[in-house]
Amino acid sequence: MKIPRSHPRYESLVRRERLVRGWKEGIVVPEGFIAQGRGEAWDYLFGEETSAPGLVAERAAAARLLAASRPVISVNGNVAALAAREVVRLAKAIPARIEVNLFHRTEARVRRIVRVLERAGASEVLGIRPNARIPGLESKRALSHRDGVYGADVVLVPLEDGDRAEALTRMGKVVVSIDLNPLSRTSQRAAIPVVDELTRALPNIEKFVRELKGKPDEAARIRKSYHRNGNLAAVFSFLEWRLGQLRQGSASPAKGRPGAGKSKHRT
Ligand code: ATP
Repeated sequence: MKIPRSHPRYESLVRRERLVRGWKEGIVVPEGFIAQGRGEAWDYLFGEETSAPGLVAERAAAARLLAASRPVISVNGNVAALAAREVVRLAKAIPARIEVNLFHRTEARVRRIVRVLERAGASEVLGIRPNARIPGLESKRALSHRDGVYGADVVLVPLEDGDRAEALTRMGKVVVSIDLNPLSRTSQRAAIPVVDELTRALPNIEKFVRELKGKPDEAARIRKSYHRNGNLAAVFSFLEWRLGQLRQGSASPAKGRPGAGKSKHRT
């Protein structure tokens, strides 16, 4: 389907189309549509733009990923369908390894997702023939790689489910999540919860990685000054402010909100 660029929901519709295509190609499972819908509902509230606290978390995520000795990005079907290129670009910038990890795992689907990432420019993607198990997880989600998520010190988990985020945290890993739902167990468990839409968050984090690469003192300062609870509180303050604006009729339900990304709710 050709979506006109002028459509007010253009980006959202493009994301839906990508997921549907991913489903037809056997990359996305139907449950992935439900997850996307849940995220979209939150994105309405955020005005479909990155909030100021979201940006702060993205900068902290970049600073943390740069300081990691074994950073890994975990990829599932939705992430591959929506943002394969963005994942690969970020992985190269850090540099970090990429591992495919699926809740509804079949070997064929893992192989298809690995191929999508390779086509997007990744050279070595983990996921096929896992050689370790994340303790405390019953499902196939536990399957992992010693050189990948299992052995990582910092794991970026976009669109993760709460159980796995919790299990990774229990293993002592620094979990950086990307999830539009600040109430999800993933956001609640992550050391750095990035509350933003995936296809906006990944390029933002990449931009900060590139900016901070030659500035170790600045990156260290950002790591020190970031406080997850304060940042999540700022996300909720931002939502309160948005709802207030909507109540007064001085903000559009989505897009075109004046001062996007420049709110005073910085933490
Ligand atoms: P949890 O188990 O962490 O409480 P959950 O059961 O909602 O959360 P899933 O059903 O796996 O977990 O959904 C994944 C999460 O990803 C949802 O919270 C949803 O808000 C979020 N999400 C979906 N699509 C996007 C997207 N494109 N960008 C950012 N977040 C998204």
